[in-house]
Amino acid sequence: MIVVMQKGAEAAQVQAISELAEGWGLKVHVSQGEERIIIGLIGDETRVREPALEMMPGVEKVMPVLKPYKRAGTEFHPERTVIKIPPARHGDRGLAIGGPGVVVMAGPCSVEGRDMILSLGAFLKGAGAHLLRGGAFKPRTSPYAFQGLGVEGLRYLAEERSVVGLPVITEVMDTRDVEMVAEFADIIQVGARNMQNFNLLKAVGRCNKPVMLKRGLASSLEELLMSAEYVMSEGNPDVLLCERGIRTFERLTRNTLDLSAVPVLKRESHLPVVVDPSHGTGHWDLVAPMAKAAVAAGADGLILEVHPDPSRAISDGPQSLTPKRFKELMVDLELVARAVGRNLY
Ligand code: PEP
Ligand code: MN
Repeated sequence: MIVVMQKGAEAAQVQAISELAEGWGLKVHVSQGEERIIIGLIGDETRVREPALEMMPGVEKVMPVLKPYKRAGTEFHPERTVIKIPPARHGDRGLAIGGPGVVVMAGPCSVEGRDMILSLGAFLKGAGAHLLRGGAFKPRTSPYAFQGLGVEGLRYLAEERSVVGLPVITEVMDTRDVEMVAEFADIIQVGARNMQNFNLLKAVGRCNKPVMLKRGLASSLEELLMSAEYVMSEGNPDVLLCERGIRTFERLTRNTLDLSAVPVLKRESHLPVVVDPSHGTGHWDLVAPMAKAAVAAGADGLILEVHPDPSRAISDGPQSLTPKRFKELMVDLELVARAVGRNLY
């Protein structure tokens, strides 16, 4: 921690800060410059009470040296996290997310029924998808809109996993459901609207399944990383970060997909980064270009909405790919992945 003193700060003020910092168990190093005194506080930064320092007489500003996301950040953990997903069925291949292979998660916005999940799952597997996505608990803007099939939806996903063999990712919205969703899901999704639901973050931090955190509608990347920190500080190291678009003044797209989030998050964090161009743009025809751009930018995974008949989808039809378009996109994604020295998993 660095404390910059105001011009003309007095020796007694410097002394008072030194005593405060020593009380926190830190070493103090005072440099007398031409114009100002700068105090370096050396030791465990988490013991510093920044507001208390800022309020001390004579202090101009206080600057942390280390990033506040200790577990999610690269400072203390330079090696990249690779999240292993065990095979869905005996004899199937497991997955690794965050390594050289780019992982594609695909499926409907909402789990709408058993047949849909089983037949779409089989199609997606054949087209090369690695995980099936589908919401059983849906965070809808209107309380009158379809809220999801709940446990019934989870059962269809589990059946797909054992019959077809695609592992599943599905959302949890309530702390009371975490244990149950963790039993069914291979990856638990925390949606954009719950990115700062700290009790939910702590609850998924205590379960033993990987967690995909979606960036909040108006959240900074630092806030996303601090949310990952919540999950990790409860003991769960397997967190995926997902860019899914943020709210801006632009109205021709549903959200503004911030692809610069990919290299920024990969610089700041060792966690795998996933991009959701479906919610990120809101229009199916924008999904393929942005999915390709995301892979080119270094994304470790994609999450894409695919529906057997988007015009009849219960939720998010306009941004859903048809199965045929998904299959075509997978061919292009392999080419883009190879162009940047990777491949589809
Ligand atoms: C979803 O992926 O099903 C979803 C609701 O996305 P988001 O939380 O990003 O809006
Ligand atoms: Mn959706």
